[in-house]
Amino acid sequence: MKPFSDKKKSLIINPLGDNGFHFAFNFENPTGVKLLTNSAAQRLISIINDEKPIDLNNSIDFSLNKSGLITEAILNTKSSDKKLSVWLHAVDACNLSCFYCYIPKLKKAVAIESNTLNKFSMNSQDAIVIADNLIAYCKNNEIENLHVKFAGGEPALNINLIDYFCAHIKKQSDIFVSFGMLTNGVFDSSQVIPVLQRHKISLSISLDGYELSHDEIRFEIVGKRKHGTWAKIFENIQSALSVDIHPYFLYTITPSNNSDLFKFSDFIHELGLGYRLSLIRSKESYPSEIQYEIIGNLSKLYRNLGENLDVNLPIARYAKFSEWNIKKKKDIVCTSSRKYVAIDQNGNISSCQMNMNNKFGNLLKNELELSLGRMKTDSHLLKIASPNLRDGICNSCEYFYVCSGGCPEHTIKSFGTIDVPSPWCKVFGSLVPIYIESIARQMLKNVRNKI
Ligand code: SF4
Ligand code: SF4
Repeated sequence: MKPFSDKKKSLIINPLGDNGFHFAFNFENPTGVKLLTNSAAQRLISIINDEKPIDLNNSIDFSLNKSGLITEAILNTKSSDKKLSVWLHAVDACNLSCFYCYIPKLKKAVAIESNTLNKFSMNSQDAIVIADNLIAYCKNNEIENLHVKFAGGEPALNINLIDYFCAHIKKQSDIFVSFGMLTNGVFDSSQVIPVLQRHKISLSISLDGYELSHDEIRFEIVGKRKHGTWAKIFENIQSALSVDIHPYFLYTITPSNNSDLFKFSDFIHELGLGYRLSLIRSKESYPSEIQYEIIGNLSKLYRNLGENLDVNLPIARYAKFSEWNIKKKKDIVCTSSRKYVAIDQNGNISSCQMNMNNKFGNLLKNELELSLGRMKTDSHLLKIASPNLRDGICNSCEYFYVCSGGCPEHTIKSFGTIDVPSPWCKVFGSLVPIYIESIARQMLKNVRNKI
């Protein structure tokens, strides 16, 4: 295997058509896409070619330096250690049954009013102990910022517990606690929306393609018949918007839905809302034809967004791709096993939602500290918990600090090691330059609108 691009990690400076503007991006030190006038671009090229040394009294050199393009003195603030994010698995069951769901052993296609639901749900006594032990851990470790993301399964199946948990944890401490909920959008809005409002819970909804392809995969079983969920979700989106809750959408790209990207994207942007695209994380790799089809559709989509997306909907937020953050140097995509853990409905602690079969301790027994210690020495998680130990060939890829090799659990599940490129390497590597250029084109459009 080879890294996608083994050119020297470098700075690109490319023209944006014949208008004199250029854009620059530092792959070695990502601090965002920079739009440059022709004179700034020429000056940057001359600095790189060692034609004239940097003079910080010169205003162009000063700005180039400040932008992070020509120096390691990064604007990139090192992300604070004082944050903990928790995936709280409020219920180990779901009302739908998506074939690619990666939550191990989840009880699927459960009816909302089912009597068996309790068996799979977190209960209120445990929720209090979990909340108290999370706060205690944050205090002991001087963590000022705790983010709890309610998930499952379908967290709305246990919405009363979520209400109870939020009310309790907010009373416990002066630590800043924020909440999010990741749902499939198929819920009773009269019950769920008031809870979201009461606790300022941000709402993320997963969709799967546009109407028809979505309904093929995401359906409920009513009287042995499949009922697509698109219409119900759309109703719930309208209910959320009517009380000023702006949902964010998550779209898992699969071979069967990648041709719907355009329709989906237009639909969400017409509502003035944003989304994140990610690639299916299944164990098997997809054949080259499928990868090229996905590359083709994603490339068309981002080229189009760069030219046409409303400048008030910045691509990096409103059409985000994967876990990419082009303003931050990242050597791994997530903080799993360090500042991020998943807690199941019984308090068991795992490194993340993709690895919930592996339990490292239990929060009901106050074992978060112990669990994080165990993750650091676990052979499977060693390099996720300590990414500086990675020695794979992604490290020598030009795009490493943007792509960061993709989801490490996915790579490990596919190849048994983190030290090889992601199963989606071809797609990532092909899309990085297009994604960056699309952001630059949208920035240029913004500048032109102001002239
Ligand atoms: S997975 Fe990403 S970082 Fe690794 S070689 Fe491929 S494009 Fe480069
Ligand atoms: S390992 Fe993958 S699934 Fe788990 S938190 Fe990281 S990016 Fe997400």
